[in-house]
Amino acid sequence: MLKIRMSSPRLQAHMPRPGSRVAIIGGGYTGAIIAKLLVERGVRDIEEVTVFEPREQLGCGLAYDVRNIDVRLNVAAHRMRAIPGSPSAFLNWLQTSGTLTVDPDAVTREGIFARRRDFGRFMQAQLAPHLDSGAVRHIRNIVRAVERENEQWRICGAEGTIVMADILILATGHPPASRPPAVDRLSASATSRIKDVLAADGFNEIGKCDPVLVVGSGLTAIDALCRLKALGHTGTVSLLSRTGLMPRPHAGGGFSPFGDFSSTDLTSAKKLLSKVRATISDAQAQGIPWQSVFDALRQHAPSLWQALPMRERQKFLRRLRRWYDVHRYRMPPQGAAVLELGIDTGRVRLETGDLVSITEDKQGLIAGLKSRAGRTEFRCRHILLATGPDFQDYAAHQRFLLGMQRDGFIRSDPLGLGLACDIAGRAITAAGTPNSTLFIAGPPARPAFGELTGVPEIAAQAASLVDRIIGCCARETRTIVISPTV
Ligand SMILES: Cc1cc2nc3c(=O)[nH]c(=O)nc-3n(C[C@H](O)[C@H](O)[C@H](O)COP(=O)(O)OP(=O)(O)OC[C@H]3O[C@@H](n4cnc5c(N)ncnc54)[C@H](O)[C@@H]3O)c2cc1C
Repeated sequence: MLKIRMSSPRLQAHMPRPGSRVAIIGGGYTGAIIAKLLVERGVRDIEEVTVFEPREQLGCGLAYDVRNIDVRLNVAAHRMRAIPGSPSAFLNWLQTSGTLTVDPDAVTREGIFARRRDFGRFMQAQLAPHLDSGAVRHIRNIVRAVERENEQWRICGAEGTIVMADILILATGHPPASRPPAVDRLSASATSRIKDVLAADGFNEIGKCDPVLVVGSGLTAIDALCRLKALGHTGTVSLLSRTGLMPRPHAGGGFSPFGDFSSTDLTSAKKLLSKVRATISDAQAQGIPWQSVFDALRQHAPSLWQALPMRERQKFLRRLRRWYDVHRYRMPPQGAAVLELGIDTGRVRLETGDLVSITEDKQGLIAGLKSRAGRTEFRCRHILLATGPDFQDYAAHQRFLLGMQRDGFIRSDPLGLGLACDIAGRAITAAGTPNSTLFIAGPPARPAFGELTGVPEIAAQAASLVDRIIGCCARETRTIVISPTV
């Protein structure tokens, strides 16, 4: 056996260094920010960065690959902190690119709430130099299979592209929303009137006066209201939710996060709730809005989540999640205005209950609702599903993930939050050990972080994940082992 030290510049130039080729599956915001940071921070240590993403552009994904201009970010621009190390990058871009000139409505008393489409454009601009230089390779394929071969990852795209990588990052983002079971028993014409709010064709068939039932009452439902209004829809819209809770509005006034959640004894859902309530009282006594308390809570979310035993995590998800979500994921002011006007004019109604059946007759769809008050029927022409991504059994959503799960490389998290991983983002194998060449990034890594949906949280995870990968690559010995053929 012959050992060669990689001291020769010629050899270094032509042979990939061990551990330095990174492949990312998914090029939404998460995959794109990781690719950008890898090439910018790992100039000497990363040989190749390949992103598999079927969409035309990197950096957009489900949330920002939108053509219409009616849906807005639910976070003010100065809080988006999309680029680690450059927290004002998005705000600066909005101001210098002329975007605010064509979209003056973005500026509100509560801050600048830009169009989601424009955040996608911002991310494209971030990636463009790296795509042009070839530092990031974008393969417009959906990944169909991932295998392990000679201690490398073999990634197979749908159109036959095969890429070998030393490190693999799963940034596959949001799975589709679950469909109500009743849908499967309907005729094709009825099914065509039940659409996901986030689907490209979701609103195509809705007539101006058609009554619409929106299943879900979170931010996606607010998006649906904004979209319907922009399309000139004048019919009634009913928002259905199990709890009757709606996202809360933002506060004006530019308050800073308020409250200290770093205490180590917040080890149960009940203690956490008491602490939040007490902190809100303190805040209000000082004239500080409750929103500031949730902003502080959000900053400590990963350590709070990690301090909760499994039983308490389950309790939190069962009893407090919806309450937490409506305070944490707040409506953009423009969306709040559309909702308020709709309710005031009687066009928008809030319904509480479970959708238990859907039937059809000549006039349209009949939704069967079940609530504490009993069963009711509700007539509509269209149903829009705004229940949000269904993270239950995450691996089951894609064939290649199921294959990786079968091979023991990954496993769905039992709480239904994504894929099992540790705080470093390393995938936990079937044997329960972390794999240092396989990472989970963005929303499916929530089992380790609790809160990993918003751009600022994903940016922070991306930065630490990239630093870890670069650290490992830099430490790799540059020794190549060649088996002599003679
Ligand atoms: C509607 C909506 C609005 C939001 N608004 C805000 C906001 O205002 N502010 C904020 O901070 N956060 C917001 N978020 C949350 C946040 O921005 C997202 O969580 C974040 O964009 C996640 O990006 P992602 O790349 O992980 O996932 P996704 O956006 O879901 O992207 C995943 C990508 O992976 C690709 N992919 C999946 N499987 C494969 C495969 N097998 N092969 C190749 N590619 C694959 C998909 O094509 C997709 O483009 C919003 C989220 C949603 C859904």
